Amino acid sequence: MEGDLQVIDWNIFSTPSFVVDRVLLEKNLKVLSSVRERTGVKILLALKGFAMFATFSLIRQYLQGTCASSPFEARLGKEEFGGDVHAFAAAYSDSDFKDLLKTSNHIVFNSMSQYEHFLPMIKEYYGKISFGLRINPEHRETDVEIYDPCAPFSRLGITKKNFPERLPPYIDGLHMHTLCQKNSDSLERTVAAAEKNFGNYFKECKWVNFGGGHHITRDDYDIDRLCNVIENFKKRYNTEIYLEPGEAVALNAGFLVSKVLDITENRMPIAILDTSAATHMPDVLEMPYRPYILNSGAAGEYEYTYRLAGLSCLAGDVIGDYSFKEPLNIGDRVIFTDMAIYSMVKTNTFNGIKLPDIYYYDSESQKILHYKSFSYEDFIWRLS
Ligand SMILES: *Cc1c(COP(=O)(O)O)cnc(C)c1O
Repeated sequence: MEGDLQVIDWNIFSTPSFVVDRVLLEKNLKVLSSVRERTGVKILLALKGFAMFATFSLIRQYLQGTCASSPFEARLGKEEFGGDVHAFAAAYSDSDFKDLLKTSNHIVFNSMSQYEHFLPMIKEYYGKISFGLRINPEHRETDVEIYDPCAPFSRLGITKKNFPERLPPYIDGLHMHTLCQKNSDSLERTVAAAEKNFGNYFKECKWVNFGGGHHITRDDYDIDRLCNVIENFKKRYNTEIYLEPGEAVALNAGFLVSKVLDITENRMPIAILDTSAATHMPDVLEMPYRPYILNSGAAGEYEYTYRLAGLSCLAGDVIGDYSFKEPLNIGDRVIFTDMAIYSMVKTNTFNGIKLPDIYYYDSESQKILHYKSFSYEDFIWRLS
């Protein structure tokens, strides 16, 4: 991938900015839609991972709808994307639920008590809206608790122990989301584990939703295995299957373009950028992970090593230590890859730091659309 990116003139973008490339995005969409063509699965964009609605006219040519974690996301899905809108949250307030009834065509409950609480409205809307329950197959594929819905004491999904003997009235389907950045062998084991506990219910389902966390567009992802899992499941249970990836849709399709503001020294050279891990890529600190930077290596790999850090006041606003073949200079561009997903939706204005501009770029035609540039008004409107 890096070879193709060398030809992009990053200086044309203001900094800091998110740049999403139409060509890279469409490459992912073609992979996803090949899975639909082979298996008949329906694929929804998880808005919580990628919600750049300027790209929706492209994405909707390949995917069948969106999945939402809240009334706002559901409205975004309905108004800007169209197609299916599926909603899930750990719990719904009465007013959130009323909103979702207007925007969603699938609503999934996280507990039997939420199902029972909303039963009068479920009865009223049944037929117009398809209702489901989230199950917890209690099968772990990751050891990192912060993103493992099957970790001990997880609040996400109903465990076998708390599930009624029969599928409750008005429930059309079951939903499970247990993976994060996983290959299809993880899905295969998860489905097998779920069948042990919930196989009887799957037979009665109109649909089963396998959630997100499938890294389908990663180079080493085993798509044949995914298709086999889906096809076998459909054969055994005669149900419709949904997948709702976020990451896989815009994986490696976007960049955060930043600039070196200053270079200081404290037992090692420190480059301070016009971006911030705390405000523009919070997952670097939360998950945590080390983002990739174009033309860089691990500390010490190339001749010039720097600690790259943000401009906020947080001492820990450090992205990591990276090395380069040439020394960094003030004003140089530093390009973070794979920043379309999660980073864009999670930005904040801590310290009053300006949000990155948003560009939609087409590396084939070189067309650049500069969609957003944020101002003081964007900062102040959420304060009072
Ligand atoms: C987070 C989430 C997704 C999307 O997950 P990705 O890892 O971005 O593919 C889908 N469904 C649910 C219920 C989620 O919580």
